[in-house]
Amino acid sequence: MIVAEDKDVLKAKLKEHFGYTSFRGNQETVIRNILSGRNTFVIMPTGAGKSLCYQLPAMIKDGLAIVISPLIALMKNQVDQLNAYGIHARFLNSTLSKSEITRLKKDCVNGVVKLLYVAPESLNKEENIEFLQKVTISFVAIDEAHCISEWGHDFRPEYRKIKGMIGQLGDLPVIALTATATPKVQLDIQKNLQMEEADVFISSFNRKNLYYEVRPKKETKKQLIRFLKEHKGKSGIIYCLSRKKVEEIAQLLNVNGFSAAPYHAGLDPDVRIKNQDDFLNEEVNIIVATIAFGMGIDKPDVRFVVHYDVPKSLEGYYQETGRSGRDGLEGICLMFYSHNDLNKLEKFNKDKSVQERENARVLLQEMEFYAESPVCRRRQLLHYFGEEFTQANCGSCDNCVHPRERYDGTEAVKIVLEAALQTNERFGLSHLINVIRGTEDEYVKSYGHFDLPVYGKGGNEEIDQWKSVIRQALIYQYLEKDIDNIGVLKLTEKGKKFLAKPHPIELARDHDFTTAIEDEEVSTERPAAAKSYDEKLFEMLKTLRKQVAKHKDLPPYVIFQDPSLEEMATTYPTTQEDLAAVNGVGMGKVKKFGKEFLELIQKYVDDNDIETATEVVVKSSVNKSKIKIFIIQQIDRKVDLEEIAESKSLTFEELLTEIENICYSGTKLNLDYYIDEVLDENKQNQIFDYFLNSETDSLEAAMADANNTDYSEEEMRLMRIKFLSEYAN
Ligand code: ADP
Ligand code: MG
Repeated sequence: MIVAEDKDVLKAKLKEHFGYTSFRGNQETVIRNILSGRNTFVIMPTGAGKSLCYQLPAMIKDGLAIVISPLIALMKNQVDQLNAYGIHARFLNSTLSKSEITRLKKDCVNGVVKLLYVAPESLNKEENIEFLQKVTISFVAIDEAHCISEWGHDFRPEYRKIKGMIGQLGDLPVIALTATATPKVQLDIQKNLQMEEADVFISSFNRKNLYYEVRPKKETKKQLIRFLKEHKGKSGIIYCLSRKKVEEIAQLLNVNGFSAAPYHAGLDPDVRIKNQDDFLNEEVNIIVATIAFGMGIDKPDVRFVVHYDVPKSLEGYYQETGRSGRDGLEGICLMFYSHNDLNKLEKFNKDKSVQERENARVLLQEMEFYAESPVCRRRQLLHYFGEEFTQANCGSCDNCVHPRERYDGTEAVKIVLEAALQTNERFGLSHLINVIRGTEDEYVKSYGHFDLPVYGKGGNEEIDQWKSVIRQALIYQYLEKDIDNIGVLKLTEKGKKFLAKPHPIELARDHDFTTAIEDEEVSTERPAAAKSYDEKLFEMLKTLRKQVAKHKDLPPYVIFQDPSLEEMATTYPTTQEDLAAVNGVGMGKVKKFGKEFLELIQKYVDDNDIETATEVVVKSSVNKSKIKIFIIQQIDRKVDLEEIAESKSLTFEELLTEIENICYSGTKLNLDYYIDEVLDENKQNQIFDYFLNSETDSLEAAMADANNTDYSEEEMRLMRIKFLSEYAN
């Protein structure tokens, strides 16, 4: 049994069972918690790596871990993935035959099975409870735990009975996991599972590798096809609102030479499952679907998620986009937006109760603001989930890559705050705008608000412009929403300070989705990242992976995931040991699938006269080059440097030295995401200018220069890396 404190042992277990070299985010803390027998509640965005939080403890603890998971159709897939690592996992659901169940039960009682996936429906059966009572159970994991809550987006009545079922198995530690961000659902889950005392681990909802973009819904089919041509061969999901649209778009894509399959609840179950499997198995690249598709799909290499129609809520949008880039590599999230879609969605609600209609309207309004806003998309999404993102430029959304023109918004924000204050912070957006613009309606009359000093002060601007200002005042935290009264806006501390002593504030104009913006489209392309691996070998490895997968009747990513193939195409491993050292591989996979891959790499290396690490240097430096690749990958993923340093047990200094070496050996690194966080634009420009005009890039010379006395050595080094990457490489 592992001692919870022993850091290296846990890491060694991670490598041994899953081939990964380090934990992501707070996986390690979560794992220690469940290992020590505590009830654990994990809230992590999609793709962050929740599964590992119970899979690794299952391998470490004695006994069988039970994993409750809602989707029978995907259980086999999850079990296949574990089996590929050489892990003994099985599933129990209604698809098994009698004799299969008998065999399974025997294996469980004998203690060879480490993980058992069950649907709540199956767990509820008396015969299954009876047999599980005879098995030593290590703990219970409840995946997709939001299914418990009626407030969640995927309520399953069976999930509400889970607590009772677990109770019959004894007093077992429970780990519940979900990607749902809303506090209401979180509370509901804890209450229902009677685990209010559980340790809660909430991760940041920032998905750094995702790129967010909103485009006007004009000539959408043309735009879509152009987009798909740029991403030919990649895997992606296209969400449409209606079944009819799903069919139409799937057909359009096939006619245009893409391989796409439809998915919606109206399809025959056999067809639906086949289409889903074809997508997982890379038989088709694109799945065109209603929101019925997605939950529980663990396909790690989805490279884009397109919303052909506007989604109903930001929460839904966030979950759906979250399905791209799970492996930490590229994930493009593109939404086509039109006002008309909002009207359509609103019409769907016409038969609902007044309260439901009002709730749905508020959700749609958030969607509208998000789409039309000029503010960083990431910042808006995180703000919606109560998380503040303070970086000036995220570098990975349309509004940051192509910033909207800015204007001096100091006076406008002042007027908005005055309006809220003078009406005693008791009103919402539309009333405030009426007061500001001097529009005399019933409310203005009955409250006598036409007497206020601020009344009519902003009469020359349109309603939409004031909406935009208020929205930005909220996101930049001068205003906040009242918790108890929906829609009511109040000043924050920051807002009060600003009114007392105004400082310049820059705002940007909203996107205008009503006029033609065709010309702008060309410039909305995202800058392409240079590849740091051998693309030719990568493609060959991918082809081989597909053949092997087909032969074994498994999805390709179960064999090796893309990041592992990229690493192989960088380090050219030709021995079993070198291959096992690749992140995400491990000896289990080498034994199962390694042979053909090693042969392919060996042949490629011979044919192309490539010197592999093993030939030229001694073993220890192989590890060094591995660290470099790790660093490059992490930086591509925009992981904070502190986090990278920590996961490799390096000091910040040492990490910078590694990064400098990478740069000097000719690899471009884009550290903007980090530098923007620690250095303001002004400072950046000054240091950059220094290097531009200096004759040497020597650090000593830079530190000795009188112009640079304000900067720390770290800052100089970071900027030197930026400079070298942009100019030297
Ligand atoms: P979630 O359930 O939170 O949506 P998953 O558990 O499906 O996410 O994991 C997403 C991806 O991250 C998977 O492809 C998995 O292989 C990968 N992953 C998880 N943990 C790690 C890790 N420590 N290092 C590298 N990759 C990881
Ligand atoms: Mg999951």
